[in-house]
Amino acid sequence: MKKILFVTSEAHPLIKTGGLADVAGSLPKALAKLGQGPIIDATTETESEPATEHGQDIRLIMPNYQDIQHVEKPRYICTLRVDNRDVNILETHLPDSDVIAWLVDYRPFFDYPGNPYVDDHGNPWHNIAERFALFCRLATEVAMNRAHLDWTPDIVHCNDWQSGLVPALLSLESKAPATVFTIHNMAYQGVFPGAIFSALNLPGQLWHPDGLEYHGMLSFIKGGLVYSDRITTVSPTYAQEIQTPEFGYGLEGLLSHRHTILSGILNGMDLEQWDPSSDEHIVSNYTARTIKQKLPNKTALQQRMSLPVDENIPVFGLISRLVEQKGIDLVLACLPHLVKQPLQIVLLGSGDKSIELKVKNFAHLYPDKIAVTIGYDEQLAHQIEAGADIFLMPSRFEPCGLNQMYSQRYGTIPIVRKTGGLADTIEDALPHSIAAGSATGISFNDASAGALLEAIKRAQILFENKQAWRKIQQSAMKKDFSWENSANQYLALYDAISDA
Ligand code: ADP
Repeated sequence: MKKILFVTSEAHPLIKTGGLADVAGSLPKALAKLGQGPIIDATTETESEPATEHGQDIRLIMPNYQDIQHVEKPRYICTLRVDNRDVNILETHLPDSDVIAWLVDYRPFFDYPGNPYVDDHGNPWHNIAERFALFCRLATEVAMNRAHLDWTPDIVHCNDWQSGLVPALLSLESKAPATVFTIHNMAYQGVFPGAIFSALNLPGQLWHPDGLEYHGMLSFIKGGLVYSDRITTVSPTYAQEIQTPEFGYGLEGLLSHRHTILSGILNGMDLEQWDPSSDEHIVSNYTARTIKQKLPNKTALQQRMSLPVDENIPVFGLISRLVEQKGIDLVLACLPHLVKQPLQIVLLGSGDKSIELKVKNFAHLYPDKIAVTIGYDEQLAHQIEAGADIFLMPSRFEPCGLNQMYSQRYGTIPIVRKTGGLADTIEDALPHSIAAGSATGISFNDASAGALLEAIKRAQILFENKQAWRKIQQSAMKKDFSWENSANQYLALYDAISDA
C-alpha cells in the first residue's frame, strides 16, 4: 500500500475551472480502489480477505475557496502557524468516495467568490503568488507530518504551477517523501517579478538559475520541474512536444535535460457520466450493438437547434473554450467554404469575445447551416456528443483533451489535429486501419485551414460509405479510456520512486 498526498488547486465536483479538476476528482478515487476488491479463489469459489494491502491510501489537499460546492460539512482539524499566519485545516471527502480531502482554510486569501485564479475581468488575483505560496507551505507541512494529522505520505503528487513550490521546499528537508509533478498545461507557469521571491520569505537557497529563478523572475512551475523525482504530463506525445520551443514556452531546455524522468500518462474519462447507454441528458440511449438508436438523438439535436431535420446531412459538433489554443480560428477560416456544402454545424462554447462575435455572425447569416450557443451548458454538451455525426477538435496544442474521448465513446467520429493527447487517442481512418478495424477518427497535421478542410472532405466521403462509417464507429466505441488504466500507470511510477 502506498500513502499518497495529492496536491491540487481544484478538484471536480468541489470546484472546477478546467481539466486539472477532472483529474483531481477522478484519479485519487481510481487509485484508492486499485487492488482493493476481495480475491476470489477460482477453484474453491471462496472469498479471501479484501487485499487491502494493495489499496492506496490517497489524500488530497487543496485551498478552501468560498465557491466550493460542499456535499458534507467540512470538519475543523487543526490550526498551523506558517509564515506568521494562522491557517486552519478542515477535513471533508471527495464526494461519493472515502478519499479524504484536506482544505487549507485561510480566509484573507481564499474566502472570496469566483474563479480561484482570476478576477471578474479575467486578470490574475493581485495576490495570487502569496495565496499559492501559502498553500504550498501548508502542503509541505502536511507532507512532513508536522500538522498533527498522524499521517506521513510516501509520495507527494503535485499538479501544475500552483503546487510547484512544494517539491522545492521538500528538497530542503531531510527524509522528505518522494515527489511527482504533473504538467496539465505548459502554457501556465506562475511567473512573477523577482521581488516577489523575497516578499514571500522563501528560503534563499532556492534562488538561482537552476532553482526557482527564471531570467530574474520567480517561476513556480520550475519548483516542480527542477526538484521533483519524476515529472509527468497527460499524454506521451505532449511529453515529447514540451521539449521543443513551440510547446515548452521557454522551459524546453530544462525539460529535455530532465527527459529521463519525464513521461506521459493519458488521462482517463468519467465512464459513468459519459455513457451513451445510460446518459440521462439524451433522448435515446444506445450501445455499439444498438447504434441505430443514435439517430433519434440527431433528430432531437436538429430540432433543438432549429436546423432542418435530415438524417442524410452530416452534423458536425464542436464544444470548446473559444480560444486560440483550440484552433477555432481555423474553423472560422473554413466556414465560408463549409456553408456552401451539404452539412450542418452545431457549436457550443464561450471565451474570446471577438471569436464569439464572429461565430454568432455566421449563425445569423446561415441559420440553416450553423447553430451557435454561447455559454456553458453541460446538458447540451451531452446532446451534441450523442446527436452529431462528426466532432471537430482542430487544436493547436492539446495536452490530453477529453472531448475526443467522449466523442469516440458516443460513436461521433472526431476530426483532430495530430497533436498531444489527440495524436495518442485517435487512430486515423486510412484504408488499412479501416480494414483492420482500428480506425477511430480522422487526423491532420498542419495547423492550417487548408489541412482542416481536407480532413473535413475525407470525413464527408467516409460518411457516405455507410459500411466503413459503421466500422469506424464500432471501433471508436470499444476503446478503453478508463481511469483504472491510467491509475495503474501512476501506481507503477510511485512504486519505482518510493521503493528505491
Ligand atoms: P480544456 O480543459 O482545455 O478546456 P478538455 O477537452 O480537456 O479541454 O476539457 C474540456 C471539458 O469542458 C470537456 O468536458 C467539455 O465538454 C467541457 N466544455 C467546454 N466548453 C463547454 C461548454 N461551453 N459547455 C459545456 N461543456 C463544455
